[in-house]
Amino acid sequence: MCMICVEIAKGAMTTREARRALGEMREKVGAQHATEVETLLDATDQARPPTRP
Ligand SMILES: [Zn+2]
Repeated sequence: MCMICVEIAKGAMTTREARRALGEMREKVGAQHATEVETLLDATDQARPPTRP
């Protein structure tokens, strides 16, 4: 688990922000975990509609 997972779990980060962060952190978290995070973000998008402005 990384910072992105933690923020998503808390609802403190939108999936859009998380995807941007993942782009920057992909090498740090590793390819395998990056894939897991993408799966988590897809599931979160489906469970939670995007935040309105
Ligand atoms: Zn993580």
